[in-house]
Amino acid sequence: MTITTLSRKNIQALTPYQSARRLGGKGDVWLNANEYPLSPDFALQQTIFNRYPEAQPEALIQAYASYAEVSVDNIIVTRGGDESIELIIRAFCENEDRVLYCPPTYGMYAVSAETCGITCKTVPLTADFQLNLSEIERQLDGVKVVFVCSPNNPTGTLLKRSDLIKLLQITAGKAIVVVDEAYIEFCPESTMASELLNYPHLAIVRTLSKAFALAGLRCGFTLANAELISVLQKVIAPYPIPVPVSDIATQALSAQGVSEMQNNVVQVKARRQWLIEQLKGLPQVEDIFPSEANYILVKFKNGNEIFQALWQQGIILRNQNNALGLENCIRITVGTAEENLRVVEAISSLK
Ligand SMILES: *Cc1c(COP(=O)(O)O)cnc(C)c1O
Repeated sequence: MTITTLSRKNIQALTPYQSARRLGGKGDVWLNANEYPLSPDFALQQTIFNRYPEAQPEALIQAYASYAEVSVDNIIVTRGGDESIELIIRAFCENEDRVLYCPPTYGMYAVSAETCGITCKTVPLTADFQLNLSEIERQLDGVKVVFVCSPNNPTGTLLKRSDLIKLLQITAGKAIVVVDEAYIEFCPESTMASELLNYPHLAIVRTLSKAFALAGLRCGFTLANAELISVLQKVIAPYPIPVPVSDIATQALSAQGVSEMQNNVVQVKARRQWLIEQLKGLPQVEDIFPSEANYILVKFKNGNEIFQALWQQGIILRNQNNALGLENCIRITVGTAEENLRVVEAISSLK
């Protein structure tokens, strides 16, 4: 008996989420995790730390409700969007239940399911990164939760709204549909939040980690109808949100905070366009996929070599070579103007 063999079999088999931080990258240009490149500066306003926090801090829930244009009982606040993903699986899946997702997409759906001992089914996206609805419908047997991501990480593309509606129709009464909107601030008109009125099995995952520039805070949300939210309330830890987190998150969601975020989004989109223009002309680049988010997916002639060469120079990108259908592709987060220039210069100086 070793400690490892004492652990659950599915944990022994588990490959943890691969981040560059975990892989030990040493960089001065970090464009691998779709973070905002600069930190907002907030000062703590709360001063009382001896008491447990509110289970669901009221001021924070109010602030997000008003930002997301939903009612306060349509929200649960979590430790990042990642905790929302895990909570949904823990609350809805047991034993032989299945989780379905559509690769290439965000890695945490599979990691969270496997951690909980739940088997996944996959239905790959089509060649233009859309849902294969007829195949999803064929695969729905035993599926309790379907994860889709729009804009999709790592492709940057949006799923068609009409397809999302069809997905909600074919899953009604059978499964929860989770629409991951981690990047929705970069294309706010595409949110599915207005559909909450029509679909009790719709859950929307949100986060402050991307456009709000607060990845270090660990604050996310699930939006859903009150009944689904109360199921999640049963499963979540009693005091998940530390006082400093709700303090700063509430400030970030003030009218001024939201307007700063929206200004940042305009800047990121301009720098994204610049990056696309510069990379488009390079002989190493085979294709750049259209993006609605704060990153771009680029297909190179020799993606692994480019990824390695830039890694050696301290420019840390996200290699997607092993993702389904994304051979030679690298995901590049839009950084500051200087960081983007470093990327372009580093790539163009390679043979
Ligand atoms: C970043 C991200 C999340 C959540 O990140 P947190 O930092 O845990 O809030 C969720 N989904 C996708 C697709 C992401 O890229």
